[in-house]
Amino acid sequence: MKSILIINCGSSSLKYEVYEMPDRRSLGKGLIERIGGSDGHLTQKTPEGKTEYDENLPDHKAAMGLMLKALTAPGGILKSVEDIAAVGHRVVHGGEDYSASVIIDGKVIKAIEDNTELAPLHNPANLTGIREAQTLLPHCPQAAVWDTAFHQTLSPAAYLYGLDRRLYEEYRIRRYGFHGTSHRYVCGEAARILNLPPQEANFISCHLGNGASITAVAAGKSVDTSMGFTPLEGLVMGTRSGDLDPAILLYLLDKGLSKTEINNELNKKGGMLGLSGVSNDMRDIGRAAAEGNRRAEEALEVYAHRIRKYIGGYTANLDRVDAVIFTGGIGENDIPMRERIAGRLKSIGIVLDPARNKEVRSGPGIISAQGSPITLLVVPTNEELQIALDTYEIVFG
Ligand code: ADP
Repeated sequence: MKSILIINCGSSSLKYEVYEMPDRRSLGKGLIERIGGSDGHLTQKTPEGKTEYDENLPDHKAAMGLMLKALTAPGGILKSVEDIAAVGHRVVHGGEDYSASVIIDGKVIKAIEDNTELAPLHNPANLTGIREAQTLLPHCPQAAVWDTAFHQTLSPAAYLYGLDRRLYEEYRIRRYGFHGTSHRYVCGEAARILNLPPQEANFISCHLGNGASITAVAAGKSVDTSMGFTPLEGLVMGTRSGDLDPAILLYLLDKGLSKTEINNELNKKGGMLGLSGVSNDMRDIGRAAAEGNRRAEEALEVYAHRIRKYIGGYTANLDRVDAVIFTGGIGENDIPMRERIAGRLKSIGIVLDPARNKEVRSGPGIISAQGSPITLLVVPTNEELQIALDTYEIVFG
């Protein structure tokens, strides 16, 4: 049995989890918040309970140190850091360089650096996590699992924008897609649940969380996805606008908004928050709509409408759809939203069973009616487990 440490390092936060492989058993996980300040906080959960630490965490090095302390404390997750057999890192942007998970070496580090201009908030934080882990755990092989890799199978028809090719060739402007680890994981699970050979299965995977994206999968490969050059494109999200007419940006510039203000409108003040005026959390918006808040109700309709549009579009571009998968916090738990979306897809062969939908909370479970030409499936995502599976496979496989 090997203990694999999974690290997802953000600019001011760090998530970690330890998996025992090949048993796929989580030994515990933790979240460190407010890295870079004097009020750092770590919460660690194991099957035995929850532990919390408050510490001054000036940088990621200090955060990693605290993580190792919590992991190996009495009643923690591991006896010693020597028990960690390998580390798997979530890395956001592999650009066009990587289409699969890899062991981290100098070339991989350089690729993460080279792709930083494409993911200026995420790649530097991921790289910091890798460097600190290499220093603190020199005995461990480390793997990079990319958010973009699964979508490297998109054809030019799906990844090129209708722009002068020069912009692709000079500035690398194309659709990359994100959430790849989640889409890959739930498609694998869906194939297993439906007893389909993964390499032959066609799916439409809807990852609906705070960030949200839809991916079309043909014969086990991603062939289209709603997030694009950045994770802003596509669906209406918690605070992100998703698709819009690009001329709106120029118009807002003419109206005197600064680049920062426009960025905030698109990424932080838009989406369900901006539309509903209530919250970015679907539970709050659902409650407000039920109490008669018209903006909240409209926001929910915009959300579902956009998703149906993508499901319809992807169905048209696939030869056959075996199943539509719902995952992410909303896809797994928001029963009324699943009904709002899937209750109106009969015209393309997707027939929801409202009673089954109500029975399946976080899943996995089938929510389509008996005889529906296309199956509707709820599958809980687990990106950390997919990272553990990849790391185990490439390090010990
Ligand atoms: P992240 O993208 O941050 O990982 P999650 O996948 O956890 O996000 O999804 C967060 C979203 O899931 C929130 O909008 C939240 O309202 C929604 N959500 C979580 N649980 C429920 C629930 N029981 N009912 C409705 N929505 C839920």
